Amino acid sequence: MRKDRMDYSRLVLFNLFLFCSCAASPPNFVLLFADDLGFGDLGSYGHPTSITPNLDRMAAEGLRFTDFYCTSPVCSPSRASLLTGRYQTRSGVYPGVFYPGSRGGLPLNETTIAEVLKPLGYATAVVGKWHLGVGANGTYLPTKQGFDQYLGIPYSHDMGPCRNLTCFPPNIKCFGVCDMGTVFVPLIHNEDIKQQPANFLDLERAYSDFAVDFITTSVKKNQPFFLYYPADHTHYPQYAGVGAAGRSLRGPFGDALLELDTTIGNLLATLEKTGVINNTLIFFTADNGPELMRMSRGGNAGPLKCGKGTTYEGGMREPAIAYWPGTIKPGVTHELASTLDVLPTFASLAGAKLPQVMLDGVDMTELLIHQEKSKRETMMFYPVSPSEQYGLFAVRMGKYKAHFYTHGATHSATTPDKDCPASAVLTAHDPPLLFDLEVDPSENYPLSSKERPDLQAVLEQIKKSKLDFEASMVFGRSEISKGADPNLAPCCNPQCSLRPSCCHC
Ligand code: MG
Repeated sequence: MRKDRMDYSRLVLFNLFLFCSCAASPPNFVLLFADDLGFGDLGSYGHPTSITPNLDRMAAEGLRFTDFYCTSPVCSPSRASLLTGRYQTRSGVYPGVFYPGSRGGLPLNETTIAEVLKPLGYATAVVGKWHLGVGANGTYLPTKQGFDQYLGIPYSHDMGPCRNLTCFPPNIKCFGVCDMGTVFVPLIHNEDIKQQPANFLDLERAYSDFAVDFITTSVKKNQPFFLYYPADHTHYPQYAGVGAAGRSLRGPFGDALLELDTTIGNLLATLEKTGVINNTLIFFTADNGPELMRMSRGGNAGPLKCGKGTTYEGGMREPAIAYWPGTIKPGVTHELASTLDVLPTFASLAGAKLPQVMLDGVDMTELLIHQEKSKRETMMFYPVSPSEQYGLFAVRMGKYKAHFYTHGATHSATTPDKDCPASAVLTAHDPPLLFDLEVDPSENYPLSSKERPDLQAVLEQIKKSKLDFEASMVFGRSEISKGADPNLAPCCNPQCSLRPSCCHC
């Protein structure tokens, strides 16, 4: 056992030596970001019937996180934080999410991971769901935010009529209702509309081919690369192509997850085939918790409370896996970490300069490579619609989490827990609801400082941390409150008069 450990340490040192002594070969990064995927959705996180062999292999051979958080229980703000290392309140990506005709987007003066890596010669690409704005003339598309290439749907794929979106089984209409008064969902290549409506049953193959080609071309050019793959799949309405439809035991969500996992397998195989797997950090996580209102068609939060739209654990604690053969030792970590930490970590590993702005992320390099303590001591929880009036809804410090406000959400309806649906209205808690997440990850049993006087000091520390953080928070101008103009929605036939239905090519 001791010998194995020594051998492994030597291997890590050797890999780091190769990396450090070879300035021309900084590591590649593949960032995988699932949509509306809960803590309990992967086989490696305990789901009994999900088929996720590639993610499970990454979890077994890489570092699996148990206490990893996104920054918002909905899509756009969570993505803004991932790409900038800053809470969404700073960048103005609040309240809620962007829509097809939104006037705003992630502000161009925010620095994304792609823009951090570009000066070092990285090739950059994003494939999948952007959801950080389109704007007039594609102002906010990925190609304006540091990405060389883009293939994907620029927002959620239910933001268009479902009648042309076939789901499961193939060739039948989707279950439920989508946004019928909106343009058909477009597939965008760089800044041009490639298909409208997008062909969903062929979409995953197109994504996989695009990503495989990007990796292969970058390796041929001897260029380091950053591939960001925010998948559409597991968001409602769940779909899958013919290779996956009906193949899981879990229905449409399981099929979508299986197809996503298959693409991840294709990427792993490509990294192996091109000989760069040992010089590539692959990081997987998700944007927010499961949409429980879809019942068994939505995701699963496992043992965690509620889901999408709430600041309970089910809304914002996510599976996360860091995989880098030969450099990251297999294991499980209970350290606190967040999507905010991805940008500083990639920058550190690549030797890139950090943006000269207030960052909320910390560098996870020592945690990933040497299993050292996380530099993150707290996690702040903002609701879907943050405001300066209410501030933070919850704060986690170490193993304790204090809720200052709670509310349920439409997205989290249908479970028996009365705290999850929208009928659980906004409630202030004074003293805050306090939980020990190590012994009670399900947030079932609030602790009482009357019975446990020692907890008073914990609460005071959390309150101080909250006050200090809020004093440092400067809310950026809200991009989502700029509203929407239907004429800004992507249209492949821009001069046509019978919008939205004429946006069909
Ligand atoms: Mg989402």
